[in-house]
Amino acid sequence: MLAGIVIGLASIAADHFLKRIHRLELLQRENSVKRESAPLLKPEIRPGDRIAVLIDDLGTNFKEFERLRRIDSHLSFAILPFQPYSVKIAKKAHYYHQDVLLHLPMEPENHHHPGKGAIDHLMTKEEIVRQVRLDLRAFPYVQGVNNHMGSRMTADREEMVLVLKEVRAKDLFFVDSRTTSESIAYEVAHDIGIKSAERQVFLDDSDRPEDIRKELRRLVYLSHQRGSAIAIGHPRPNTMKALEEFIPHLHEEEIELVPISALVK
Ligand SMILES: [Zn+2]
Repeated sequence: MLAGIVIGLASIAADHFLKRIHRLELLQRENSVKRESAPLLKPEIRPGDRIAVLIDDLGTNFKEFERLRRIDSHLSFAILPFQPYSVKIAKKAHYYHQDVLLHLPMEPENHHHPGKGAIDHLMTKEEIVRQVRLDLRAFPYVQGVNNHMGSRMTADREEMVLVLKEVRAKDLFFVDSRTTSESIAYEVAHDIGIKSAERQVFLDDSDRPEDIRKELRRLVYLSHQRGSAIAIGHPRPNTMKALEEFIPHLHEEEIELVPISALVK
């Protein structure tokens, strides 16, 4: 009788294990088809692999923020300066012990304007420093900074040194959103001694639910491969819905969602 129970339990465990491996293999196949650099080795599943999810572009809509805040207390928020709800969102996120980042608007390669508080290459050094300082004071409880747009500026070492020295002066961390593969922001942050990290996954470059789910699976895969991984998403209905469905099941993947401040180094 006891032996029967033991065998039964063992086969449940084995079944669970095989399902997990199968899931990983599917992910891996998907990855190796899409990305030439995909690793051939199956990542080992270690309990305690971690992900952080940073929601960008907050500040214009309080309801969206409230919906996101309720999904999980470890979601992190990047708020644009001088928007109608920037201050209110920062205060509320801080009240619930959630990470607050300044989403610093920076000039992109295309001609889109990054919005209020933006810095660009036509400004003098003094003007850039002055604007960054104003942005850093636009709302309270800022713990870190990441770039909004910025494909032009994050590729410019001299400008990034100016910006990141202001971040360092306030003892904040920096997350490179990596809006361009040419970005050197993470490297510069590291060089000048700021705690920093860079994004691995954009959840919603495509707004299609199936594409967002695919990026979430890639986030899981990368976190097992690297030990941790960082995703950036936006306060859009399909992204919020996908997160509401995904996050409650993270423990099944033996992954922990952590505030982004836990992954900077
Ligand atoms: Zn942004």
